[in-house]
Amino acid sequence: MTWSEVEFTLGWLGDFLDQVARRWSILPMGRWHGQDAAILRHDIDLDLEPALRMAQWEQIRGFQATHFVLTTSDCYNPFSATGRRMIQRIQECGGEIGLHFDPTLYPAQELQAAAESEATQLARVTGRPVTTVSLHCPHRLESLPLFTGFTNAYDSRIFGPTRYLSDSSRRFRNSPEEFLKQASGPIQLLFHPLHFQHEEHTYPEIFRVHVNHWLARIDQEHRAVNHNFRDQIPLSLAQTLGHR
Ligand SMILES: [Zn+2]
Repeated sequence: MTWSEVEFTLGWLGDFLDQVARRWSILPMGRWHGQDAAILRHDIDLDLEPALRMAQWEQIRGFQATHFVLTTSDCYNPFSATGRRMIQRIQECGGEIGLHFDPTLYPAQELQAAAESEATQLARVTGRPVTTVSLHCPHRLESLPLFTGFTNAYDSRIFGPTRYLSDSSRRFRNSPEEFLKQASGPIQLLFHPLHFQHEEHTYPEIFRVHVNHWLARIDQEHRAVNHNFRDQIPLSLAQTLGHR
């Protein structure tokens, strides 16, 4: 097994990033100012937990990345007690927090103000300015807005076939090996934390674990304060609902 054969595991990712590090310095987006470097980016679409796991792994491996947080997610809440704690722990591991922004929620003329407002809210959690932005599901958009006052993931200097590698939807459009052969100048590498664990997991396994985490959180929150919940669901919520 070499890094040129893609495997969705942390072992493969480490080998790939070691290969990248031979030619580029690997940086979070906030430390990129136009120089030739490899920007390491993670978009957090589903859950903060895989992102924290990724940040802990990166700390051990000596990589730093930007973790883009979707403040408007239906699936996790960066402002809850759990969310805040995880974001702060990602920072303690050396990760930068950026804004993952969904522009479909606002009229075009309000996008700049909306991005600034979401970044300000997020900065209350991070305790430091949020200066980088990536777009959520850009393939749905007719045009890719850029935001003044931020480093933009869709800046043309780091976006395009020879500048940008992405594992969106758990597949690479061009092979990472080919990408590195053709790439020059600054590059941007997007890996979604939920795709990478020590063992290779397909989507059904990834989402089963996510749903079980959610059930455990709901269980914990309600069991502590609701005696009817405790009486009617004496076992764990996951077991009661028949989840493996
Ligand atoms: Zn996204």
